Amino acid sequence: MTIQQSIPAPPDAAQPAEAAARVTPMMEQYLEIKAANPGLLLFYRMGDFYELFFEDAEIASRALGIMLTKRGKHQGMDIPMCGVPVERSDDYLHRLIALGHRVAVCEQMEDPAAARARGNKSVVRRDVVRLVTPGTLTEDTLLDARTNNYLLAIARARASSGGDRIGLAWIDISTSEFIVTECGTGELAATLSRINPNEVIVTDALYGDPDLGPLLRELPAVTPLTRDVFDSATAERRLCDYFAVATMDGLSAMSRLEATAAAAAVTYIDRTQVGKRPPLSPPSREAAGTTMAIDPATRANLELTRTLSGERRGSLLDAIDRTVTPAGSRLLAQRLAAPLTDSGAIARRLDAIAAFVADSAARDDIRTTLRAAPDMSRALARLSVGRGGPRDIAGLRDGIFAAAAALARLQRLDDPPPEIIAVMDAMRCPSRELAREFERALADQLPLIKRDGGFVREGYEAALDEARNLRDASRLVVAAMQARYADETGVKGLKIRHNNVLGYFVEVTAQHGDKLMAPPLNAIFIHRQTLAGQIRFTTAELGEIEAKIANAGDRALGLELEIFERLCALAMTASEDLRAAAHAFAMLDVATALAKLAVDDNYVRPEVDTSLTFAIEGGRHPVVEQALKRDGQPFIANACDLSPVPPPYPPPQAGEGRVGAGQIWLITGPNMAGKSTFLRQNALIAILAQIGSFVPAARARIGIVDRLFSRVGAADDLARGRSTFMVEMVETAIILNQASERSLVILDEIGRGTATFDGLSIAWAAIEHLHESNRCRALFATHYHELTALSAKLPRLFNATVRVKEWQGDVVFLHEVLPGSADRSYGIQVARLAGLPAPVIARAKSVLAKLEAQDRGQTARALVDDLPLFAVPSRAAAEPAPPSEAEQLIEAVAALHPDEMSPREALEALYALKAKLPKTP
Ligand code: ADP
Repeated sequence: MTIQQSIPAPPDAAQPAEAAARVTPMMEQYLEIKAANPGLLLFYRMGDFYELFFEDAEIASRALGIMLTKRGKHQGMDIPMCGVPVERSDDYLHRLIALGHRVAVCEQMEDPAAARARGNKSVVRRDVVRLVTPGTLTEDTLLDARTNNYLLAIARARASSGGDRIGLAWIDISTSEFIVTECGTGELAATLSRINPNEVIVTDALYGDPDLGPLLRELPAVTPLTRDVFDSATAERRLCDYFAVATMDGLSAMSRLEATAAAAAVTYIDRTQVGKRPPLSPPSREAAGTTMAIDPATRANLELTRTLSGERRGSLLDAIDRTVTPAGSRLLAQRLAAPLTDSGAIARRLDAIAAFVADSAARDDIRTTLRAAPDMSRALARLSVGRGGPRDIAGLRDGIFAAAAALARLQRLDDPPPEIIAVMDAMRCPSRELAREFERALADQLPLIKRDGGFVREGYEAALDEARNLRDASRLVVAAMQARYADETGVKGLKIRHNNVLGYFVEVTAQHGDKLMAPPLNAIFIHRQTLAGQIRFTTAELGEIEAKIANAGDRALGLELEIFERLCALAMTASEDLRAAAHAFAMLDVATALAKLAVDDNYVRPEVDTSLTFAIEGGRHPVVEQALKRDGQPFIANACDLSPVPPPYPPPQAGEGRVGAGQIWLITGPNMAGKSTFLRQNALIAILAQIGSFVPAARARIGIVDRLFSRVGAADDLARGRSTFMVEMVETAIILNQASERSLVILDEIGRGTATFDGLSIAWAAIEHLHESNRCRALFATHYHELTALSAKLPRLFNATVRVKEWQGDVVFLHEVLPGSADRSYGIQVARLAGLPAPVIARAKSVLAKLEAQDRGQTARALVDDLPLFAVPSRAAAEPAPPSEAEQLIEAVAALHPDEMSPREALEALYALKAKLPKTP
């Protein structure tokens, strides 16, 4: 059966053919509402269905795989239509939103009977009650519990001298978070990949901008909006209006540009929620430079929160996430996306973890308490926009009790650090009395939606108990009636049943039907329906009792809904305290989870300071280590020291190597030896340290990294028409142009995507540039053994290799990183391990032997001696040289026009030329 067949055609949609060209009143209403909501699919409520018409119907039927039908005609053409049942609409909405659509939900605003009472042609009043867009969701069914759902507004301020500024404001209405910041256009890509928004709003102009437009259009769900939404003149007024305050002063200090973006975001929320305003935290401002900048390619390649294939499983986040609540998981993801650059703030986070590393009993107790703490911020958000249910109230009840329990446990800690004291302060806030009121009001078993009723505890309100008793007593009467009818008719199997179409009815099997339809019983039993096996009847008496039951039931439900609204209002008065407690839960969850990770996986507290140190002892790769552990394999720990020389590594030669520049480690070794793993693990350790987590190492000292760059892994970016090599070079260009002394750079196999000599030359020049110009801490893995010769010239370049052993012609990987350089690639041995046919291996060996006879290494060593050291071009040198005297003469002659000159002018020009000649002694 198609969904459509189950609903009767509305009377106003069925048009006689001759009137086809006329627009029906219902269609008129539909088209008006549709026109007011451009760019959105319109869910038009008709009875138990949301219907979609015209192009919307075609889009939805394709996207949802539901049957496309027709309903009436519009201007002589069939109207395509499809529909989704209201009770399953969340599911359909979810799928449409996931595909990037936005939906306007249009409800019936009155009882159809009221419309009929106005006259035959009257259409039920309808209105859009909400726009469902990817960035403005609140329902659990539409959200991923463990990730934030951000709406991001981007505003731009043009600067005549170039250097436009970008204002960003992002909001998660399901948790009330609201953050603003400002950045330059060059940092936009990195900032966007950090925020990872679900929906973005921009001005039309920015969307079409030749420079930024392409970047924006790549984002999921971008909506260009008219200029008024981004009007800076009205921004403050709109923000004040949303927060119902007279001035923004008390809310937060924001730049004009940030306020513009913030106002755009709240205006959009206002529009999508159609008047209902989810409460938001006052915008918190993220100052520039407070987080480690990580460009999108690095973020993707290091698989911080998702793997390259887009999954959470296998990412760093997945490996370190031991949180027990969705809010904790979201906070951890936020922290991982934005490592800090303030060593003080990092230390405060580390102190909290250290407290729970030291006290395992407290850690376990708190985690047990947290497990019982529901997602309070999302429950609150739903209640605030009228989409909450009884279980959300129960969530707040349990949350408040859990906060009290957690507080009691935290009070037993010796000397809690400041972050835990802040958590305790927040846990003290929500009123226990509120939770007790919720406890008194709510039944033990709760329905999902409030309209199902039955969620208020018996004894809570006398009037409700009375209505329920009446309803239940009448149900008993029905049961007695069934027994009596069975007796009177002699039909033992007679049943009284109920459904939504017929209400209460008497049902007998087909063989007894005739008896009830014949005198004398037909005076009592009125035939209603004949089915294949059963026949259904009603009676006057049953009709009466049904009305009574319905009335009592309606009254009971009405009272319950009133109670629900009261409880909701109570929750709203406490919403700030509840939100603070919810945030404290998340912090506590992250602190205890990272402590558990540290204990379980043997992580240590890093020392993070403002130096340029990078000294890791016994470092491990957090993800690879876990994967190996599952297979019962050990991970080989390795040290890494990129701290500025002098000591412990050879002092720079006289006059070279300014103090304060980091070292570059050049790592050679065969494929599969563990070079990439080593590179990545050091980057990940820096990130973990700066999010304020313990790290997988025996000891770690890290001077704050302001930007992390990587060029690892390679994939074609075919969507943008870039080959692997092009992607590699673009990423390398970014690094060489932007890395500073405070940056950490990891480069894997630069130049591999082109011919050997090209690649070697590019890698060579890149290392020299990093050493002389960027002066950053860097790890450089390469296949080109020739590059190791560079260490003779570059004082801060240090050669390291991953050890392998040859054993009976095979290569054995030891995964140990040691000083020195690899003497060979062992490519053929690895190829053999991979199963290349024996004849191919044999042939490759003989080709290699021939090639090796030419000895490229020799050439490289000679090159190092011959080539002058890479010189960083100074600005003056980069400018074009002034023209020589000969060039000046040529220019002067070219500027002469003899035909237009008098004899005298010609003579003067000749003297002038002669004067330009170099003076001969
Ligand atoms: P390369 O970059 O040198 O080709 P990878 O870093 O990709 O090598 O490592 C290859 C495999 O070796 C990894 O998948 C991992 O299983 C293993 N491996 C790497 N480093 C280690 C280590 N330190 N200890 C144990 N196994 C390792």
